[in-house]
Amino acid sequence: MEKTQLFVKFILSWWDTNRRNFPWRRTTNAYRLLITEVLLRKTTAKQVSSIYAEFFKNYSTINELAETEVDELEKILYPLGMEKKRSKELSKIANFIVEEYNGKIPSEMDKLMDLYGVGRYTASGVLCQAYKKDHAMVDTNVIRVMGRYFGFKSSKKRPRDDPKLWSFTTALIPKGKCKEFNLGLIDFAGDICNFRSPKCDLCKINEYCNYFKTN
Ligand code: SF4
Repeated sequence: MEKTQLFVKFILSWWDTNRRNFPWRRTTNAYRLLITEVLLRKTTAKQVSSIYAEFFKNYSTINELAETEVDELEKILYPLGMEKKRSKELSKIANFIVEEYNGKIPSEMDKLMDLYGVGRYTASGVLCQAYKKDHAMVDTNVIRVMGRYFGFKSSKKRPRDDPKLWSFTTALIPKGKCKEFNLGLIDFAGDICNFRSPKCDLCKINEYCNYFKTN
């Protein structure tokens, strides 16, 4: 089997039995997914898990979030750190969506990326998981796997802004399976092909991997 096909097939089957279990992985609600992606920045999934249920119990819709005072939000966001910045950011996003889109989370890349502080990764996460659109989610972990397995080298100073890398990763997504593929890749990058000590001996695609062959 061809190296690329093998990789895609492997990621899908690996994720089938090894997926990480976070509460936001079980929803297709665009509001929850957007807010969660914003919260996941500069903190850990464990920390976000610790406030997830309470947060969405208190603010079950974007309108409720928009109506909430920033001071109130700060209290619930305190365990994540940077609560002042985070609460202002969430409030701006929520108010903008209520005013501009009548409370409906946009399903277009340009509109999502127009939201305060929202970049391509967050927008893609919403499009893929809520609206089932085949967009890649490229973060530093995914960049590492693309570099190791395929030998993809970005010429950009910040590879995460490299359109070629986004196109390369997007082209790998099997039609209609962006959630499984993206999350599989993210979990595989964290658990097996991790930054410090990749578990290459356990990796079932190692004989096709550039990094394994050359190290
Ligand atoms: Fe990553 Fe090692 Fe597997 Fe290559 S063989 S994809 S470096 S874990």
